[in-house]
Amino acid sequence: MTTTKTAAAPHGTKEWAEHNVNIQTGCEHDCRYCYAKCMAVRFKRATPESWQEPVIRPAAISKAYRKKPGRTMFPTSHDITEANVDECLIILKKLLSSSNDILIVSKPRIAVVERLIAELEPYRDQITFRFSIGSASDDVLGFWEPGAPNFDERIRSLQLAHDSGFQTSVSCEPMLDRHIGRVIEAARPFVTDSIWLGKANRLRCILALNCPDDDEVLAAAAQLIAWQSDDEIIALYERCRHDPIIKWKDSIKKVVGIDRPTEAGLDV
Ligand code: SF4
Repeated sequence: MTTTKTAAAPHGTKEWAEHNVNIQTGCEHDCRYCYAKCMAVRFKRATPESWQEPVIRPAAISKAYRKKPGRTMFPTSHDITEANVDECLIILKKLLSSSNDILIVSKPRIAVVERLIAELEPYRDQITFRFSIGSASDDVLGFWEPGAPNFDERIRSLQLAHDSGFQTSVSCEPMLDRHIGRVIEAARPFVTDSIWLGKANRLRCILALNCPDDDEVLAAAAQLIAWQSDDEIIALYERCRHDPIIKWKDSIKKVVGIDRPTEAGLDV
């Protein structure tokens, strides 16, 4: 794989892919911890309220997408939903027909995954699905990700992609409670690649822009930060370190002292 040299250890989406593509500003899932929303609010591309009403960028749909070295992640700053799946398929087919290696990341809906699987089957060997599941509790998911699918729909989507012969993986970043083992065991039978564990990053800074003055959210964030103390993360690492399906995001590698890659997109 050709990789891009970076000065420091890559973090966020750069741990998984060298390139990213997005087609809209905003996301109906409206996750409280969303970094993309925080950046959009900070740079006045959206408000905390307007973020839930995405605006597709026509130029992103009409442009050509050539072959790029390494892996491309789609999307990184919104999701694929029933409202935009037609446009997302246009982009994905352009990327795939140019022989790109694609990581599709989503909090998945069954109807959307059915469309993706049916229409992208000719490109199956170029695609890995990575579905985000930070908790097995619908109460927890509903609080932090109010517009996103429930746990059962995400697991059924994962099974569908797996049983259709696609490469599959799961992102538990951010982990949203102390019971991530429940997600790991529910997902494990349908994962061909890996289950990533990661902390909630920059939570207080993000919430100050995404949910200003929301005391309930700030209290929940304080709890989550306490659950992800260094001692808790080291204990989690000791429980899971020999599980070959688990990979650790940079936020955990830093705490437990394991090697951090110096190149983007290695997915390790
Ligand atoms: S699904 Fe992703 S892009 Fe959409 S609000 Fe949630 S974190 Fe942000």
